[in-house]
Amino acid sequence: MKAVGFKKYGGPEVLEMMEIEDPTPNDNEVVIATMYTSINRLDTLVRNGYHGLKLNMPHIPGTDVVGKIVSIGKSVSNFSIGDRVIANTVFGCGKCNYCISGNDHLCSKWNVIGMHVNGSYGDLVRVPVSTLVPAPTNYTDIELSTMPLSLPTCWRAISSVGKAENGQTIIINGASGNIGIFSILLSKALGLKSIALTRDPKKVDILKRLGASDVLIYATDDQILKDVMNATDNIGAEIVIDVLGSTLGNSIKMARNNGEIIALGTISGISSEVDIRSLYLKTVSVYGIHNASKDDLRKSLDFISAHNIKPIISNVISLENASEAHRNFESSNVFGKIVLKH
Ligand SMILES: [Zn+2]
Repeated sequence: MKAVGFKKYGGPEVLEMMEIEDPTPNDNEVVIATMYTSINRLDTLVRNGYHGLKLNMPHIPGTDVVGKIVSIGKSVSNFSIGDRVIANTVFGCGKCNYCISGNDHLCSKWNVIGMHVNGSYGDLVRVPVSTLVPAPTNYTDIELSTMPLSLPTCWRAISSVGKAENGQTIIINGASGNIGIFSILLSKALGLKSIALTRDPKKVDILKRLGASDVLIYATDDQILKDVMNATDNIGAEIVIDVLGSTLGNSIKMARNNGEIIALGTISGISSEVDIRSLYLKTVSVYGIHNASKDDLRKSLDFISAHNIKPIISNVISLENASEAHRNFESSNVFGKIVLKH
């Protein structure tokens, strides 16, 4: 099959088109033919050499899997060849209590498609059948290819873990990125007042059009904290979504009493200074999440279907031009998902 992968870690230039052997399914696996996938920040982190992760080369990245099943392992009974499916991004050992209860992301042996194993930059991708849900018929493959990682992760952050309720205020840090965009779309449909934080003044209008109740420009920690407090009658927000990482200490200060911080990224750094008093004096909880459960994927797909939410797509680029697409992605000039076409 044709695939885009890399033989050594590095910048976008290490991605190359290659011919590799077709994957064949083991007993509890299926092989899916993919027409489209999309770029996540994870793809660039893996390409650069993810901390602590040792990959067999060549490696095929790509975490967003949607397509038709073309072959199945001999123990697969709940899906058939020809089924159109979407795969949850994470799978575990399949045997521990976390896996049995559908929480593969909590398994000590968790794997992510395109990170620990080959992913959807190949025409064919092999995944455990346990990751699959039927693809909703009211979305195209292009639309669905933007969702497997970002959508259920945002759903988990806001609804499953954050337990957001209608009328509450949510702060979305890094609002112009893919997690930020899906978070704004979900927040609006959930009846939340969303305050989007961005460093780019050019993104204000588009974030408002997307549904953000308020957009604040992040220049410095002190300034943005002051602006958030002004925007929330000096009490802060019930939920703060932090994808940036180095902002965690400030995010905690933005929460109101009994508020929740959901930490799910390290785009701006892996450490942050935390004033412990801002945690206990306000009884704030900090949750960390990575990926989502299959239940989150199912629920988030049902929710966007019911609310007719469409993903924001920046452009569709041929997979052959994956290097250029990665350069584009890393330039931060894009708004919305970059889809790769096989
Ligand atoms: Zn497990």
